[in-house]
Amino acid sequence: MTDNIEHLSIPVVPLRGGAVFPGITTTISVGRRRSLAAAQAALEGNGELLILVQYRTDVENPEDADLATVGVLATIRDLIRTPHVGVQMLVELHRRVAFEGLTHKEPYLRGTYLELEESSDTTNQELMIEAIAYLEQYADALGEANQHVVTNARSQTTNGALADYIAGILNLPFDTELELLTTLSGDIRLQIILDYLEQELRITEIRNKIQQDAKEGADKAQRDFLLREQMRAIQKELGQEGDNAAEDLSQKIENAGMPDEVKERALSELRRLEYQGPQSAEASVIRTYLEWLIELPWNKETEDNLDVDHVREILDEDHYGLDDVKDRIIEYVAVRKLAGNKMRGAIINLNGPPGVGKTSIATSVARAIGREMVRLSLGGVRDEAEIRGHRRTYIGAIPGRIIRALRDAKTRNPVIVLDEIDKVGTDWRGDPSSALLEVLDPEQNHSFTDHYLEVPFDLSQVIFITTSNQLSTIPMPLLDRMETIQMLGYIEEEKVAIANKYLLKKQLEAHGIENVEVTFQPDAMSKLIRGYTREAGVRQLERNIGKMVRKMAVRIASGESGPFEVSVDDIEEIMGPEKFTYGTAEEHDEVGVVTGLAVNAFGGDILPIEVSLSEGSGRITLTGSLGDVMRESAQAGLTYARANARLLGLEPGIFDKINVHIHVPDGATPKDGPSAGIGMATAVISALTRRPVRKDVAMTGEITLRGKVLPIGGLKSKAIAAHRAGVSTMLIPKDNAKEIPELPERVRQDLQIVPVSHLDEVLASALLEAAGLPIKLAEDGEHKQGVVIPPIPVDGANGIIHVSGD
Ligand code: ADP
Repeated sequence: MTDNIEHLSIPVVPLRGGAVFPGITTTISVGRRRSLAAAQAALEGNGELLILVQYRTDVENPEDADLATVGVLATIRDLIRTPHVGVQMLVELHRRVAFEGLTHKEPYLRGTYLELEESSDTTNQELMIEAIAYLEQYADALGEANQHVVTNARSQTTNGALADYIAGILNLPFDTELELLTTLSGDIRLQIILDYLEQELRITEIRNKIQQDAKEGADKAQRDFLLREQMRAIQKELGQEGDNAAEDLSQKIENAGMPDEVKERALSELRRLEYQGPQSAEASVIRTYLEWLIELPWNKETEDNLDVDHVREILDEDHYGLDDVKDRIIEYVAVRKLAGNKMRGAIINLNGPPGVGKTSIATSVARAIGREMVRLSLGGVRDEAEIRGHRRTYIGAIPGRIIRALRDAKTRNPVIVLDEIDKVGTDWRGDPSSALLEVLDPEQNHSFTDHYLEVPFDLSQVIFITTSNQLSTIPMPLLDRMETIQMLGYIEEEKVAIANKYLLKKQLEAHGIENVEVTFQPDAMSKLIRGYTREAGVRQLERNIGKMVRKMAVRIASGESGPFEVSVDDIEEIMGPEKFTYGTAEEHDEVGVVTGLAVNAFGGDILPIEVSLSEGSGRITLTGSLGDVMRESAQAGLTYARANARLLGLEPGIFDKINVHIHVPDGATPKDGPSAGIGMATAVISALTRRPVRKDVAMTGEITLRGKVLPIGGLKSKAIAAHRAGVSTMLIPKDNAKEIPELPERVRQDLQIVPVSHLDEVLASALLEAAGLPIKLAEDGEHKQGVVIPPIPVDGANGIIHVSGD
């Protein structure tokens, strides 16, 4: 096995990161000092050199154990120094030898070796041809077809020699090289090479095919890629998850806490999604749907704080007065506490004109109980789909407002405030109120099914609070399910308190000057209320305060520091001339002019009624957008006067010879309702009898043809309006007298409230002594129309009587 008897040591050059194989002459770089010295020594000696592979590249000074046990015996032919590659040695690689060990380490490595014999190395033509064929293809595939390489390969005579030759020209992985180096069977080495080439070729083929495909599809793919990238960027911008991996969705479905039924549905949609091309339209529809399902708070809840004292504290903190409203809410909370989740329904409806704090109370309730709150306005909603969503087949479909509100709330037990429930309309698109009924009805709402979602969502944990300006337009079935709390408006004193304690602070904060001390002199605040607002609530007042505060902010910005005390003059300067004259009750006692009272969606207000007479034929004309009911009231007043002509001191004949013109100024808002009845009748009778109406009296009441006074609604709003207008006496139907104790204390103190049951009493209270001459039939020939309407005395004239040449 060995013919090396002396075991002479020869120079050793260790190689890092690669191996060399016998059979060729090649160059090898030598970098390390001792390798260079070894090469030089070899060159100076007989040229013999042992080239060994070191296992690890990071070892600078290898020991025996760092070096492979098989090396290559070589003869150095030359040492070539090149400026770029460094020193290279030109070596002839002879054969494998067994490395015995190092004998010297300095000045260069020397070691001894033993000769080795190939264990089996045949000439297997088939195998060799196969290997060469692979090599050809491989060289082709690499684009390095090199006839020279192939020819040399063909010239190899044994399996082992061929294997070594190919190993030398291929760039093999280090492990493979080491394996080839240490394998003494040429047959096995060729097999290793064959396996390697076969595998490489397959990889290369696949790579080429991909490249080919890619090249063909490059344009389209690139376009798609760009579009997809853009879409992803847009989605990211919109805060949508760009990554739509099914994996991701399925994880989200798992985590969404859906009820089993919903989860099943979601998973089946997800499977459907996986069948679709990710860019198909259908896929995006499914994805959107799944995202809706995932985002809904199926089982997320906040914990209620139903401590009654705490709730009261918060309500008081946020709102002045409103004691009865707060009481009702406390009651509601107490019941809820007792009944727990078994409490169903009892939807609170806050009814009242704008700006009385409905929304703000609802917000406070949510804050007090510790729930999320979402508001949605139902004003002008006419389409059922707005509430319940569109079916998914509808392009661009999304869930309805209720489900959207829940998504926004992020919990399944928020307070949902449904604003303007009295403004829900109905038309051909379906009746939204029936959908609302389902939302609000505790018997049904635990499985509310949105058209888009198609799976039920449990709304039973939601607290619904609705708001409305009036009850008359709320569909009965809805109204039935609600517990209405009236919030009718504030008297001036309350407004002053609200303004000073809340609105001013809010506006200072809103303008970022909450640290500045700002106060209003009492008469300044009154002026701001009386002169510049006419409302039941405090919305305009809040805006006006905002305007004042803005001026202050400007002054601060220009160097002033306060504190500021707002005076009447400041108000005038900033707000301009007064918009409303306070005490809108008439300034004089006038004939044919009555202060009536009305309620509309904006709260209570005074309703001036003017009647003038002209020669004519018994016609009644109404102007100022008056409805039929008002016309009937006027007719009733006239009929009563006719029937009681003698008592009233009127000539019965005159009724057919005059026209009655009734006008209610401020005609832009349509007015109707029977409660102006006694006002109409009184104005007509005042005009007929020439008895002026007391300017400090306001009145409300329906009237029958026989002069009976019937009860009316909205007493509180009207009382507040009368109080605001500065009248001293208010005539109300006797049947409404039982509501007097419910009126604000201040109103009861300031207003003399007189219950009446018949028009006689009204006339007795409201009319003064006749001023001037009565209307009378003309003497023959005196006047062609047959009636004389004397002028009204100068004092009360005021341009009220229009003698039209009808
Ligand atoms: P609504 O919903 O009835 O139209 P808002 O709730 O919007 O009225 O109220 C208008 C403004 O007046 C809000 O800033 C509100 O906080 C304030 N406000 C109304 N009533 C009160 C009150 N009693 N105490 C304190 N602020 C009030």
